[in-house]
Amino acid sequence: MRFNIKKAWWPAKDITLVKRAIRFAARRYGMKDLDLKVKLGKPSKRFYGFSSYDDDSGFKIWIYPSEALLRTVFHEMTHVKQQWYGELDLNAPGAPRWKGKKCKAKYYKQPWEIEAHKLEVVLLKEFLD
Ligand SMILES: [Zn+2]
Repeated sequence: MRFNIKKAWWPAKDITLVKRAIRFAARRYGMKDLDLKVKLGKPSKRFYGFSSYDDDSGFKIWIYPSEALLRTVFHEMTHVKQQWYGELDLNAPGAPRWKGKKCKAKYYKQPWEIEAHKLEVVLLKEFLD
């Protein structure tokens, strides 16, 4: 897998930890040769992280420093997995598509968020074991 990490002022040990967690998640989800752009942001009150995919720029995740750093990585990597396998299409016209169907649910009811909130805990546990 290839990383393209943009960092500003993150401590080296946090960057190492995030890289290990990303590699772990990519292997766990069977995403071979994933080409991922990772942006490590400055502290934000609004976000822990987010992810995006499009054909031009590929897979991207943004991670912001917080006490939930590893959970955030596994959460965003779950969204990468969903887009990698075509389960989630956020760029579909009109509304996002989940497993081929339009979905207009609000954030906490979106099936991809429900899955990501569930799997972030599962992967965190596996990673720490
Ligand atoms: Zn999410």
